Amino acid sequence: MMDHIKRNSLYWSLLKIAILPILLLALLITIFSTNRFADSVNEEVKQGLKDLCSIVLLVYDNLYEGDYHIIQKDGKEYLFKGEYQIDGHYGVIDEVKRKTGVDVTFFCQNVRAVTTIMDNRGHRMNGTLASDEVTKEVLEGKEEAFYSRVSINESDYYFAYYAPLKNSDGDCVGMIFAGKSSSDVEGLVRDVVKPILWLAFFAIIVAGWFTISVSKKMVGAIREIETFLGKISGGELHAELDSSVLKRSDEIGEMGKHVIRMQKSLRGLVEQDILTGLNNRRNGEKLLLKTQYNYVKSQVPYCVVIGDIDYFKRVNDTYGHECGDVVLREVAQQLKEHMEGKGFVARWGGEEFLLVYERCRLNRAVQHLEQLMESIRSTKISYQEEKDISITMTFGIVEGNEEKINHIIKNADTRLYYGKNSGRNQIVQ
Ligand code: GH3
Ligand code: MG
Ligand code: MG
Repeated sequence: MMDHIKRNSLYWSLLKIAILPILLLALLITIFSTNRFADSVNEEVKQGLKDLCSIVLLVYDNLYEGDYHIIQKDGKEYLFKGEYQIDGHYGVIDEVKRKTGVDVTFFCQNVRAVTTIMDNRGHRMNGTLASDEVTKEVLEGKEEAFYSRVSINESDYYFAYYAPLKNSDGDCVGMIFAGKSSSDVEGLVRDVVKPILWLAFFAIIVAGWFTISVSKKMVGAIREIETFLGKISGGELHAELDSSVLKRSDEIGEMGKHVIRMQKSLRGLVEQDILTGLNNRRNGEKLLLKTQYNYVKSQVPYCVVIGDIDYFKRVNDTYGHECGDVVLREVAQQLKEHMEGKGFVARWGGEEFLLVYERCRLNRAVQHLEQLMESIRSTKISYQEEKDISITMTFGIVEGNEEKINHIIKNADTRLYYGKNSGRNQIVQ
């Protein structure tokens, strides 16, 4: 297959035309769907975090009456809800973390008062500060906010939701945080996108396979035609074109049919005699050589005949040259019909013919020839008003052997000459 994929080959061009758009399309689908699904997963997680914060706040509201407020003790600030000190009590947030995997933090101002987030040594990150960005936007701006990648401890990023904790005067005393590890969220996106990517990959493979097999068949057919034309231009006029090309109903199939027609025309021009449509002398010699080759190879007997129309000049002289042509064509047709299944006939010269009986011994060939002679003799040829022009022929016949074909033909010719000189209208062996 590799030689099909030469860089300057048609196959390569077709693959480029077909595969590149598929790859591009697959890339676009992948990017688009990944983004869309990432967005929708993020949206879902955001909503989840926000709802979770609301629930945690609701639980605190139900458990502990009163406002969120800050109390100073020993120079330190502590977050309270009513009488209840939030600092140091982890029951609710740890339970949330255990059940949902979501980290929760209460901030006293911008300081983590209670949190489920641990540092690298496994200690809660109580007492650490929110980032400047969060402090500014949520605490000072008194607005909830989402962050897709917040760094809190050194080991992980968080997909986070922050909301301000306000007392009944509307003052902001702290914040509540709910966050999920960014890698968990990305994992969720991956889980959703993975089947889509597999599907896209599968579609590319199927489309690619389809393209390759169609291109291969198409290019294969064109290559068959190319090889066939190469043979014809090299003189192999009997080369065969693969039948699968001709079975195609597209332009390539049509091209194959044209090429076959061209081959036939060329063969006619090169191998046929124009007047009679018989094999010309050149092709007669070629076929005779082939017959002799079979004889040499497997001793299949054959006979060579030279036949000549008797007094043909008289036909021309009496009825005209055109009539002579009609007679030649008529005789040629009879010779052709006679030789069918027995061998072949060629126009050797003006009114001289070469007949070769294949797979045939001399006496059998002579019997055939006698029948032929009789049928020619009894044929009435019409030309214009003339209805019964008849002719006879004289034949010289020899059994084929391994000698040079010129010798064999000369031997047949000598017998013909003898026949001409001894009354014509006969077979001389
Ligand atoms: P023979 O019995 O000795 O063969 O006598 P013949 O008249 O047949 O032989 P000859 O060689 O004297 O004359 C052959 C003639 O055939 C001469 C030539 O003009 C004619 N001839 C050759 N080729 C053609 C052709 O293509 N068309 C026509 N009409 N005549 C042809
Ligand atoms: Mg003659
Ligand atoms: Mg002659």
